[in-house]
Amino acid sequence: MRHLTSGVSALLVASLAGCGSSPETNATVAAFDLRAFANRFPPRSVIGAPRLVDCKLSEGVTTTCVAITLPANPETFDMGPWCPSNTADGADRGGIWPDGGKVYDVDGSFIENLATFYNDPAWKMYDPQTGAVNVTDTPEACAAAARPDVDPRYNNYCVQCLASYIKNGLTNTYVIPIQPVAATRIETRVGHAGVGIAFRGVRLDAPAPLDDILSAHTLAPFDDCGGHVNPAVGYHIHAVTDCLQKGTSATGHAAHIGLALDGYPLYARLDASSPVPGDLNACGGHTTVDEGYHYHVGDAGSNAILGCHTGQVGCVLEDPDASCDATARPAGPPPKRPR
Ligand SMILES: [Zn+2]
Ligand SMILES: [Zn+2]
Repeated sequence: MRHLTSGVSALLVASLAGCGSSPETNATVAAFDLRAFANRFPPRSVIGAPRLVDCKLSEGVTTTCVAITLPANPETFDMGPWCPSNTADGADRGGIWPDGGKVYDVDGSFIENLATFYNDPAWKMYDPQTGAVNVTDTPEACAAAARPDVDPRYNNYCVQCLASYIKNGLTNTYVIPIQPVAATRIETRVGHAGVGIAFRGVRLDAPAPLDDILSAHTLAPFDDCGGHVNPAVGYHIHAVTDCLQKGTSATGHAAHIGLALDGYPLYARLDASSPVPGDLNACGGHTTVDEGYHYHVGDAGSNAILGCHTGQVGCVLEDPDASCDATARPAGPPPKRPR
């Protein structure tokens, strides 16, 4: 049962599917190894200890979830840089930007070349005399530029919010079923609660709203680990790069990098010595003998870590003591939140 020690047993899911009304059994709960789950995360990256809680998943199933609280400002994680400050800066002074399936270094020349890159002369993010790049450099500027309707004062800015802008003590508590439950209605995208968590102790998020960002002639670069900061949720990752992908799993499959919000395991894009698995479904999932059902994350340039969840998702809670009712969401599209 080694899969149990890696968080959630996808094999067990397969063997129990359709066994009665309760999606988890007492044996599943008893076998879930909280300490082994906690040990997947670096020391000091988790607040308190993960715990088992009752939860209501997105289609109303009541089951047992593991709740884990991560700081919005993960001090164990090396964040940034995001925006170069001058068009003379090299790639080491900036982050990355996805476009058309590719990842570009946001260095000084990328900033200088934006009007050509996007074929739009309205791009002008730097001072042609000095080469200084317009960068949001206060918490107020970050908040005004990172909101969905960008404050017009910050058109043609490289938007970055520093980790120091994150409110002290802000946390996110992820409540994830220990026994995934298939969704009867699979959404066509990842919801506002995001993709899940990486074992490096960071949030894996839904796609960045590139249309909103680009239409204001702004960039909100990711750092080389594919993440950036917003004031609402803290540091979060939109693109999985090799930074989260160290090593491979014991079976030679791609590295096991985290857990999706529906409880299925998340693997890196590529297997140890082979290309992307050819049988992934629209969400990014497939089933193998050794790993059971699991996801492979999207290419870093795709701006989609997952296409969707195939299981019912749990919750992401601001209050670590709140209970998870994933059905308690307003109908209609998810509310827009800062990028
Ligand atoms: Zn696989
Ligand atoms: Zn973001």
